[in-house]
Amino acid sequence: MAIDTKKCVGCSDCVVACQTENNVPHGYSRDWISETVEGTYPELTLEIRSERCNHCDNTPCVRTCPTGASHVIEGGIVKVTHEECIGCGACIESCPYDARYFHPDGYVDKCTFCDHRIKNGQDPACVAVCPTHCMYFGDLDDSNSEVAKKIATRKTKVLAPEAGTKPQIFYLI
Ligand code: SF4
Ligand code: SF4
Ligand code: SF4
Repeated sequence: MAIDTKKCVGCSDCVVACQTENNVPHGYSRDWISETVEGTYPELTLEIRSERCNHCDNTPCVRTCPTGASHVIEGGIVKVTHEECIGCGACIESCPYDARYFHPDGYVDKCTFCDHRIKNGQDPACVAVCPTHCMYFGDLDDSNSEVAKKIATRKTKVLAPEAGTKPQIFYLI
């Protein structure tokens, strides 16, 4: 996924769409909005980001999961099998992005990249509703995909690269 920080206005439509699409219980969310101010007054810049699980290539959440509930599926999406999750919280502790939460039904939940939608050729719900079209989802290994082209032609960053998790969400800056 690529997310254009120059286009996000922080409206939270992506957050509401995700809660609705994925039956996220009231008071919880799989994605959220962050705002960072940089510079020195009066030269300040505000960056607004829609954040979620980074579907990292190097996954402490999968390594620390004692039951195998946290796993990686074909294509690199990191998922949690709810029935195999014992709610120990090891994955939550190991994630540098605070991307997981305890579901009130006793398991850990997080962003799935809406794999139920992408299987049907649809964009993830958050991508589909964004009014500024600031998110791009697709196959990074396909150089002709829109997401690959965006990343190839724009300056990008990932969040907390020092954590070494190799995040697969790239912010266009
Ligand atoms: Fe930003 Fe788009 Fe989410 Fe609105 S819907 S907060 S513009 S990412
Ligand atoms: Fe795991 Fe956190 Fe990376 Fe998601 S963001 S894959 S939960 S380490
Ligand atoms: Fe939620 Fe799907 Fe977007 Fe992940 S990809 S934040 S599960 S709407």
